[in-house]
Formats: sequence, structure tokens, C-alpha cells
Amino acid sequence: ENQMDALPDSIREKVQNHPCYSEDAHHYFARMHVAVAPACNIQCHYCNRKYDCANESRPGVVSELLTPDQAVKKTMAVAATIPQMTVLGIAGPGDPLANPERTFETFRRLSEEAPDIKLCVSTNGLALPDAVEELSKHNIDHVTITINCVDPEIGAKIYPWIYWNNRRIKGKKGAKILIDQQQKGLEMLIAKGILVKVNSVMIPGVNDQHLAEVSRVVKSKGAFLHNVMPLIAEAEHGTFYGVMGQRGPTHDELQDLQDACSGDMNMMRHCRQCRADAVGLLGEDRGDEFTLDKIEEME
Ligand code: SF4
Ligand code: SF4
Repeated sequence: ENQMDALPDSIREKVQNHPCYSEDAHHYFARMHVAVAPACNIQCHYCNRKYDCANESRPGVVSELLTPDQAVKKTMAVAATIPQMTVLGIAGPGDPLANPERTFETFRRLSEEAPDIKLCVSTNGLALPDAVEELSKHNIDHVTITINCVDPEIGAKIYPWIYWNNRRIKGKKGAKILIDQQQKGLEMLIAKGILVKVNSVMIPGVNDQHLAEVSRVVKSKGAFLHNVMPLIAEAEHGTFYGVMGQRGPTHDELQDLQDACSGDMNMMRHCRQCRADAVGLLGEDRGDEFTLDKIEEME
């Protein structure tokens, strides 16, 4: 993507072989996700807990939950079958950093047993500052933070509560803690030289007018890419903020916002919102070839 030409060389090199970040690379390099992280530490109004975390994944999909050991086996089996396999991500089904033991054991083992595979992780950011040190010890050069707002007023309309220090904190107060943690985590990652992509879910009437500001703020702190994803409102999701029929943005609204942000920021335009257990080149999903029972048969 031409916008990438504007990035500093050090970042551009990292990005070039990454199927999610480079329009060209996504034809030649494969990625996979493993779903090892069941719990979450916040509530987003757009989340349906029956399904994978909507911050990175396609809504309405349930992924097969794996133990770290199963995730490592699966990764090895995929890498042996798909030679282009270069990136492994943990993106759900809950928040990876709300499941630190499971997430870090998976990363620890993979950075030892498959050192050529790049690792990435996505998070809502609440537990991020506490995780940065551990993340920096593994082969992780990409972290995705979902940042839907930088204003607690708006945040309170998106997040009914967070779970923080063993307590549920509601409304603006909870949203402010989440926002502060996201921004602090972002700054800490940048200071460690870890690439940060920011995802935002565009919710018409809630944060659509605010996301250009989010884009400016995260860019000024060093995020290298902004991925504005449409809220995919499904009948199954039922309500949002107690309002029946919250709609997602139209294609044109999404594109207008991406255009408005792109003057300042590299915008990601080919994220497919893959499932939390996606396998293969972008745009294909070979996950069905690598279900647990099939992997156990391969052994
Ligand atoms: Fe759901 Fe993900 Fe939000 Fe947690 S962070 S509530 S799993 S969408
Ligand atoms: Fe890449 Fe987006 Fe798929 Fe994640 S969800 S693997 S960022 S295309």
C-alpha cells in the first residue's frame, strides 16, 4: 500500500512481510489465530459473549477453545502444512491479556519452539500496562489495541462496565480507567519498540464523529496503523446501549471516515475481521482442516 511508503524504514521492514499490514504481503504470507483466551475483563455493548471477541474477530462466530498445549500443537501442524505461515495471533475468544497465564504460556512455548513465527496479540487494553514487560520478552512485534474513544463521556455509551481490582466499575468512571490504561499501554509499547496497530469499531451516532480525534491522538503517540472496523449489527446482537436496532455504518460512511482519517494516519483497508481461529492466507480460512480432532489424528 502506498501509504506505507511514508513509514520510517525500520517499521516498514517489519510491516512488509505481514499479511495483515501489507496489501501485497497478504497474498503470499499466511496467518493463523489460536483461541486460547476465554475470559474478558470489560463489557462492550457490541459484544455477545456467546461468540468471539468482536474487537478483532468476525461477529457471530464461536471458535474452538484451545489449551496452550493444544495451541502449540495446532501451530506446529499448520506450519508444517502451510509453508507461508508467518504470523500467529491470539485474538480471543475473550481478551488475551485478561487470560495472562494461558496467553503467555502459548507465547513462551512458541517463541522457543517456533522462533521464526512472528507473534501478535490483540487486546481491549485494560490489562495492557501490566503485560508490556512480559510481551517484550517474546517474539512479539505487533500489538493491536481496540480504542473506540478517548473521551469517558463517549466511553460510557460503549462500555457499561469494566472489571478492575476485583470490582465492577460502571459508567464514566470505568470508561476513564479503560481509556487511561489503553493510552498508557500504547505509550509503553512504543517506548519498547513494539509496533502498535489501533482498531476502532465505528458505531453510528455514538463514536463516528469522534474517531478522527482518536486517529490523531494514537498517531501522535506512535501507533503505525489505524483500522476502523464497522459495527456489524446483527439481529442476534439484539440491543446496543439498550437501544433495539443500533445499526452499523453503511459502506459509504465507513469509507468517508477512513478517508477523513487518512490525511493524518495510515489506514488499514483490508482487514477481514477474521475469526479467532482463522488459518491461512487472508481471505481464505482453512481452519476446518486443523480442528483439534484432526490435529490429534495427525500425531
Ligand atoms: Fe466482548 Fe471483546 Fe469487548 Fe471483551 S473486549 S466485552 S470479549 S468485544
Ligand atoms: Fe489480520 Fe484483520 Fe484478520 Fe487480524 S482480523 S488476522 S488484523 S486481517
